[in-house]
Amino acid sequence: MKIIWIVLTSFLLIMAGANAADAPWYTTALVGMEVGPTGAQFGHSDASDNRYCAVFNGRDIVEQCREAGSEYLVMWVRDGDYAYYNSTILPKAPGLGERDPLREAVDAAAAYEMPVIAYCVVQQGGHFLEAHPEYAMRDMNGSPIGRFCYNSGYLEAVKEILAEQLAYGIQGFHIDMLDQGFGPPYGCWCEACRQAFETEYGWKMPAGVTWDEDWDRFLEFRYKSSERFMRALYAHVTSIDPNASVDFNYHGNPPFSFEVGQRPVQHAGNADFVTGETGVWGFSALTVGLNVAFYRAATPGRPVQVAMQRGVRMYHDQTTRPLADIRWELLSLLAQGAFVTMVDKTGFDGGLDAQAYKRIGEAFREVHAKQAHFGQAPVADVGLYFSHRSRDWVGREQPGEYFASFQGAHKAMVYAHIPWGVVLDENVNAETLQRFPVVILPNAGILRAEEVDLFSAYVEKGGKLIITGLSGCYDRMGVPAGNSALEALIGAQLVEALPAKDNWVRLSGEMPEPLRASIPVDWPFLVKGPAAVYEPDTAQALGELLKPYRTTRQKEGKEGTEWPMSPDTPVGQALLLNQVGKGEVLTFAASPDYATASEHAIVEARRLLVNAVRYLHPNPRVQITAPVTVQAVVSDDSETRTLRVHLLSYNSPPQTTPMNNRPYILPGLIEDTLSYRATITTSMDIREVTAFNPETRLSRQGNEIELIANDIHEIVLLYY
Ligand SMILES: [Zn+2]
Repeated sequence: MKIIWIVLTSFLLIMAGANAADAPWYTTALVGMEVGPTGAQFGHSDASDNRYCAVFNGRDIVEQCREAGSEYLVMWVRDGDYAYYNSTILPKAPGLGERDPLREAVDAAAAYEMPVIAYCVVQQGGHFLEAHPEYAMRDMNGSPIGRFCYNSGYLEAVKEILAEQLAYGIQGFHIDMLDQGFGPPYGCWCEACRQAFETEYGWKMPAGVTWDEDWDRFLEFRYKSSERFMRALYAHVTSIDPNASVDFNYHGNPPFSFEVGQRPVQHAGNADFVTGETGVWGFSALTVGLNVAFYRAATPGRPVQVAMQRGVRMYHDQTTRPLADIRWELLSLLAQGAFVTMVDKTGFDGGLDAQAYKRIGEAFREVHAKQAHFGQAPVADVGLYFSHRSRDWVGREQPGEYFASFQGAHKAMVYAHIPWGVVLDENVNAETLQRFPVVILPNAGILRAEEVDLFSAYVEKGGKLIITGLSGCYDRMGVPAGNSALEALIGAQLVEALPAKDNWVRLSGEMPEPLRASIPVDWPFLVKGPAAVYEPDTAQALGELLKPYRTTRQKEGKEGTEWPMSPDTPVGQALLLNQVGKGEVLTFAASPDYATASEHAIVEARRLLVNAVRYLHPNPRVQITAPVTVQAVVSDDSETRTLRVHLLSYNSPPQTTPMNNRPYILPGLIEDTLSYRATITTSMDIREVTAFNPETRLSRQGNEIELIANDIHEIVLLYY
């Protein structure tokens, strides 16, 4: 079997090579490098310091990347301070002298047919913004906020900058970033924006953050400003060279919200493909995979690029992660279907770290050896619904309160190895929903009538819907509506939303076993998060929802309710089951998703959600048991009738207390490859099962496969 597999793999490699000549680089590449200097990232650097970039050299960078197995190079050519090429518009980094690193890189890469993509920063304070105050984004008082305004003359300046870079014969652009800041003060109240706003809406801009109709128009205006800027740059580049690729660094996913000026879908699809970032240091280990699925949902059918970095803590810190840690993130991203750019920041003088390239090369070689196993269609039993309107108008300036439910639902699915995907309110349709046997609405507070109609049709046809917390309980401006837009689906009327988040659930022994599996009955447990009391109509009510005790001081408003208080008396049901057409709706009165992402995450709260999925979808194609530290990604290649189960072992070692912000610690770096046991049960007939790693021990009894894996990444192939 193994020989056959090698032959098949070689054949696929040849096929991939044959296609590569015609296909755009970003449709065939799996791994590439992004290389840029360290020293001007905060802007306003010393323009006379000749040590900076003294040895930053395009030829050396290409040679190192080539040796590491990089399929393309994203070359840093411009930031808020300098150009790293001979620009007629921008000052050049002081240490470069007569040299032109972009010319060096393009010339060296040509010999290898390696695409060179220019990394061009558009949004960073520094020397250029200082020299052009007329381009500045301004807060509500007219003060500059250290960013460029997208409605200013800056657009024309950027067009000229891109044109002179394009003239080098590069293959495309990575444009970073299209944000409007990452928090208050917000922009932009400059004169150009004020005028454009009044022309568009016949209305004056709001005076500040008002969260009313005026603010709604203002947010819309901000979103449109970013989109117009992106589209204008894309049109400009492709008008000069139709083959040049353009991608923008994306910020439409959690933890980013309205402040950035991006919506999940509106700002993902304005270029050839979307690029986003991961990194456990900034986005958590769970969102490494979540980000890929989010980007994919935002741009269905298109390639997705994710950038990770070789540094331990951030891009510029010059530290290098251990190989095992690099491998875990890299292979997680690829298993989810992304292609990956590894970010390397050179030393201050532009020198390259040979040890880093050695490790990156080793990781890239592994990817090339496994290349036949990436890019297949994902299998997803559960769709996680993301409502950007709820992000903006329920989350408002605390979007984390909204994200907690979405991310908690994701965490519950990952820990239970239930394959999941992301569904976005901006582009959802009947077809999207039908791909998922189960759809979860995690506290989707604001739902339009069109969305509710889609859910109704989905359930009527046999879909299974899980509703949590206060989904559907807000009007479009994020104000509690006093009823639920989902009442017909829930089969109950909303009586009230509970005022605090320390709410409790108690299950009873009379409930169907799958719904209470591995959760003690007649035992109240905390399910922290928003909760509602319902009056059942057609729904069957199960278990109890209990309100918390409120101390006298809490009642007097002298103490908060952030720290949970113990359970008091029942005020409603824990969950509701409602048959609708051929489908079923399961509504949690509490928020097991929010609880799972919260600081009071108990295992039982998470199991509530997992049990609900298993109850509604008892016979999935693949069911996986493995430690919670192992993530599973399932893909299906229907042509070769092959299911692939990627198993990724995240064994981050324990940390000590941090120097500040105790107890908020960063995870330790993965160093070891642990052995663990996993089982895969299928509801399909399987002809043969193999594992990628020859040392993996596999045994099979009927439809149950047991294995002992020994590596960070394992691929189990099930031929059906
Ligand atoms: Zn402006």
